[in-house]
This record gives sequence, structure tokens and C-alpha cells, in this order.
Amino acid sequence: MQVWRVNTRQKNDTIEACPQSWERLGGRGLVARILLDEVKPDCDALGKYNKLILAPGLLVGHKLSSCDRISFGGKSPLTGGVKEANAGGITALNLVSLGIKALILEDLPEDDKWFILHISKSGVRFESADDLIGLGVYQSTEILLNRYGKHVSLALIGPCGERQYLAAGIMNLDKDQNPSRIAARGGLGALMGSKKIKAMVIDAQQGEKPPILDAERYKQAQKTFTQALKDHPQTKIYHDYGTNAMPGMSDGFGGMPTRNFSAGHFEGLEKIRGETMREMLIERDGEGKPSHACMPGCIIQCSNVYADENGKTIVSPLEYETVGLLGANLGIDDLDTIARLNWECNDLGLDTIDTGAALGVAAEAGLLKFGDGKRALELIHEIRQNTILGRVLGNGAAIAGKVLGVTHVPVVKGQAMSAYEPRAIKGTGVTYATSPQGADHTAGLTIRAKVNHLDPSIQANISRNAQINMAGYDSLGACIFAGNGFASAPQTIKELITARYGWEVSDNFLEVLGKETIRLEKEFNRRAGFTSAHDRIPEWMTREPLPPNQSVFDVPERDLDNIFEDLIQKDE
Ligand code: SF4
Repeated sequence: MQVWRVNTRQKNDTIEACPQSWERLGGRGLVARILLDEVKPDCDALGKYNKLILAPGLLVGHKLSSCDRISFGGKSPLTGGVKEANAGGITALNLVSLGIKALILEDLPEDDKWFILHISKSGVRFESADDLIGLGVYQSTEILLNRYGKHVSLALIGPCGERQYLAAGIMNLDKDQNPSRIAARGGLGALMGSKKIKAMVIDAQQGEKPPILDAERYKQAQKTFTQALKDHPQTKIYHDYGTNAMPGMSDGFGGMPTRNFSAGHFEGLEKIRGETMREMLIERDGEGKPSHACMPGCIIQCSNVYADENGKTIVSPLEYETVGLLGANLGIDDLDTIARLNWECNDLGLDTIDTGAALGVAAEAGLLKFGDGKRALELIHEIRQNTILGRVLGNGAAIAGKVLGVTHVPVVKGQAMSAYEPRAIKGTGVTYATSPQGADHTAGLTIRAKVNHLDPSIQANISRNAQINMAGYDSLGACIFAGNGFASAPQTIKELITARYGWEVSDNFLEVLGKETIRLEKEFNRRAGFTSAHDRIPEWMTREPLPPNQSVFDVPERDLDNIFEDLIQKDE
């Protein structure tokens, strides 16, 4: 496997052997290692010294169920710290088929010309993107697929990435050429926009599957893992209801962010929960599908195709975080409206979490009445039109709060919280506070732990374990739900890695990977100027009780400060 570097100023590329110290890392862990080795932590995130890194996970390449994810990374334009955001779809599979361990976009162009990067066995080609500038993600995708063929994969930005909005993400094709798999968090779309790359087109037609050293051993491990995943009760739940299985659980714990995180129970819950959505999609028939795989080989199929009452697709997929932030958080209880808001965000190339949180802040400022879906769509239209208000909202909740004079802003390290209230699901609050990534449920979700989520004394440990596991899975390229299979058959991780690469790894390889990843990330943030003062939930959430539990975030600060104390080892 090789490291491909693209210089966006000189418009050339080089292909190098992978350094030994990077070999046993992949995905999120590799992003952290490259950032620490090559990017000045105090650099301007949108300047010439930052790099945009694409790193497939270690298990990517063989369509192992739900294990072909791509990590994007760089210094975050949103948080100012380390950033990795991963996505499903087919980008990782194609990169690995070309033998690419990491693709690194460097430097900055000296002019305003935009390019498409065409990546294939023949190398990297810069082609003009003039005809795509200003176009939405869906139209750009249609043009690119007509030009390059339906066999390619794409990673592209929308108008918000072009304008370097801090809530912009990078969109990726799913297996059905739908550009909706977003590496959403941390403003990496803005980083790609700073390099004037509108799209990466990855043509793996001449590529090949990566080698497996011991095919029989791999096959056995794959069989065991797949069976364990099939047998896990959560697999059926996510298959049937997708991530939108979560509203009932979240709301049941009093943790459904409602009306800009002012309550934990949403009266409109029944209308937006996954069970309702599934029934509605089945009844509406047509193009809608309650279950859908984002990548080949996924047996969980947690995605969906959301169709309107005429059976015409509005958006695919509609996920819990979007339902939470653009729904309950705005007091909107109509799934069709939420789906339309989702489509707009996708087309603009925007993170629905930070955008939903920014709209919640706008509502608090009086620019939107909670529950008014039409006005929410108008505000998204302001973003599309690039008005001053649109720019404020497109830069995410933290900026919106500052400009609009709102103090109740649900962010950590400048990044919006996901759809789990930290005052009710306190372990996830610990994750928001202490993850080097900023507030992000995927860094360590604790809601499924069978504990009292309101007891502050036990949360740090639960969050720590979840964070280490997730950092491990993100480095393997495994979807969060593939983790259920690995949790039931943990030995298969070692078996798959040893069979594929011939490495002798320990039984606790997942933990080793996870700890190393977090250690590297913490070190990058330390050098970027982060201290324990940044590992805090907003102060108002420690004072203002959240109905219905009337709970505050009261996990002791010393627990937050000590959570990764044993991992801290300076890496000069
Ligand atoms: S479980 Fe969902 S997100 Fe994960 S790989 Fe399958 S379809 Fe994609």
C-alpha cells in the first residue's frame, strides 16, 4: 500500500512507500499520526500548511460487512484541533483497490481556479471544475457521473464547502450513486474548498482487491464475524428502523434535544420516531425503502430511502441525528419537512447537526418560531443565497450564537452536540467534553450502557471505554454497528488482521489501536494550544435543570481531567 500526495499549488502528485511507523494504523488513527508528523498544530486550518487526508480503515477492501469506511482528516477549521470525520459509501473501497493507504492533499493554489482530481491507476490528473462551481451536490454528481461513467466513486463538496463555511462536509457516493454519505463534522468541506478541489473522482476499474496472506484463516474469521453480527439483536433493530430507532430511547431517558436543548422530551416524538417512519414508508410504497445498504456487503442496512406521499424520493438516508437536530431541536414534528431540510443540507454540502443546532440558536434569537418548518426552509435558503444571515448560519452553531447574541449554544470546542442531551445521558456528555474531536456522539456513545445515565459518579469510565472502542473501530474502518458483531466475537479482529496482513497483533488490538489514536489526537491538540479548560460542557448546562428529569451536567471536573491521564505521553 502506498501514500499518494497531491500538491494543489504545483498541480502534481507523488507516490511513496508507506513509512513503517504508519503501516499498522488506518482510518482515524492514521489521520492522527499523519497530522502529528506533518501538520503544524498552530497553523491556519484554511492555510497552506494544513493538509486534507483521506485514509481508509485497516479492514477496508474485502466487503466485510459494514467495514469499508473512509476517514477524512486535517486540522479542523471549526474546532481548531484534530479532526477526523468518516463516511460510508464506496470511496474507501475504491482507494484501497488502487493500493492507496493514504491520499494527502497539500499546499494551497495561488489563484482562484477550481479543479477536479481524477485518481486512477494512471495517477492523478487535474481537470477544470469551472462548470461545476456554484452547483449543488446532486447536480454536480449527475454531471460527473455522465462525464466519467457510473463505475467511479466521488468525494465532493457543495457550495458551502466552496465558500469555506465551517459547517461544510465532504459528500461521498453510496453504492447506488447517491452522493449522501457525508464526512460531516468539523468543517472538512471548507478545508477541501480552501484547496480549490470541487471533487475527487476515483476510478478503480484497473484496481484490484488487496492481498490476503492467509485466505482460509480470513474466510473463517469473516464467517464467524458475519454470523455474530447477524445474531446480534441490535442488527435487526437497525435493519428495520435505521438510526431512527433512537428517538424512543433518547426521549425515554429524557435526553431528546428539544427546542434548542431546552427540554429532553419532545411532544411530537410519535410522529418522528423510526417505527412511524417505517410504517409510513411501507404504506407509501414507490421508491421509499425502510432498509438500505450504503456500501456493498453490509448486512445491517441501517440506511433508508425516504419517499413522499406519492412514493417519490425526497432524501436518502434520513438519519436520527438529522431528525433530532432539524426536527425536535427546532420543534418540527413533520418527517416530510425534516427530509426536505435534509435534502437542502446535502445539496449545499452541510453537516445537518451543526446546521440544525445553528437554526435552534436562530430560533432562540427570534428568527424562527419553533415548529415552523416553512421558516426553517427559508433560513436554509438564506444559506444557499449566501446572504449575511446565511453565512452566519452556515458557519455553525458557535458562530451563530456569537453573532446573534445567544448564550444557550450547545457546542464543545466550537462543534455542535448531536441528538443526545448531555444532562440526561451524562456519559455521552463526558464524551462531548473530553473527545479531542469536539462534541460528537460517534466518538463514544453511551446510551446503550445498562446503567443509570443520571448518576454522575460512573460516567467517566463508561465514556472512556466507549471512546477507546470507537477510536479503534474508526481506525479499522468499521461502522459503529459492526461493533456489535465484534463485541460478540472479539477474537475475529485479531484473526482478520493477522490473516490479511500477517502481523502478530495482541488479543486486545482494538483497545491498542483506540488508545494510540486518542493519545496522538490529544497530543496534536496540546500542541495546538488546547488545555483541560476546553474539555468542558457549556456552563449553562451545569446550572440549568433539564426537564423532565430536572438534571444538570454534574460529572466532576476532576473526572473529565483524568479520563485519559494514563495515555498522555508527550511525543516530541
Ligand atoms: S450499518 Fe448503515 S452506516 Fe453502517 S455500513 Fe451499513 S448501511 Fe452503512
